[in-house]
Amino acid sequence: ATPTAVMVGTGVGATQGILIKGGQALESAHKVNCIVFDKTGTLTMGKPQVVDTKLLRNMVLGEFYELIAAAEVNSEHPLAKAIVEYAKNFREDGENPVWPEARDFESITGQGVKAVVRNKEINVGNKSLMLDLNISIPIDAEELLAEAEEMAQTGILVSIDGQLTGVIAISDPLKPSAREVISILKSMNVKSIMVTGDNWGTARSIAKEVGIDTVIAEARPEYKAEKVKELQASGYTVAMVGDGINDSPALVAADVGMAIGAGTDIAIEAADIVLMKSNLEDVITAIDLSRKTFTRIR
Ligand code: ADP
Ligand code: MG
Repeated sequence: ATPTAVMVGTGVGATQGILIKGGQALESAHKVNCIVFDKTGTLTMGKPQVVDTKLLRNMVLGEFYELIAAAEVNSEHPLAKAIVEYAKNFREDGENPVWPEARDFESITGQGVKAVVRNKEINVGNKSLMLDLNISIPIDAEELLAEAEEMAQTGILVSIDGQLTGVIAISDPLKPSAREVISILKSMNVKSIMVTGDNWGTARSIAKEVGIDTVIAEARPEYKAEKVKELQASGYTVAMVGDGINDSPALVAADVGMAIGAGTDIAIEAADIVLMKSNLEDVITAIDLSRKTFTRIR
């Protein structure tokens, strides 16, 4: 392609809300034959909501949520926001309730949070958090977790003073276009893979819903990047699509990093292409644009 064609291509992208950072990004996109998708906020809406709560001990639900919200209000995680939002339903002081004070707050990346609220030790997070804290998970809780995962929800465990007290089911629905985008990519001979920090059960259910066969779950950020490099080593030209801080290393490692416009600044900086409208369809538009610019009909 001539420099003029590249300029035109980049310009067309811009008018469609696809920010292409330079000719190299536009060029690489037409060779992409494998795309690694982040789950939360990329394939899903990224707006998780509490859909169910099961208490394993006798306790007033409003009290339970007050203790957890007091801990989670200190966390930036989308799951924490969902829990705090839900907890407001039990309050009468409106949009900005005054939660009890949380002492010794600690956020453990990829696991959950810990805090002391009203002299009670509160832990909110996944199985791995509870196992690390030596909190035993009764069979009922295991079953509730499995049920949530089966329904593509994330099950969050809550312990109070060392005892497993509740299981919260949180749902983050697929973006409306996700299924179709994956299906169109398949017809374009582009392989789709999903990588997520979420647990295997939920990840598999979501992947099935969206039509992706290859899933990697419980992935740490460094591992997302390693996976990209591994695919490159086996001959693929890889695009990574993500929105989070934890996707940044993989966005940099990929031949083409694509960030969701509504994502975090760090992901947007790390990417070669930014989908300003946050539409998943624009992954296809970007590849199409590159193919039109770089493959000439002879
Ligand atoms: P991702 O955002 O890709 O789903 P994370 O690494 O951020 O992955 O989190 C992995 C898991 O750790 C979550 O699915 C959840 O089970 C648990 N977790 C992390 N932070 C929190 C939190 N603030 N509250 C409850 N659970 C959490
Ligand atoms: Mg994400």
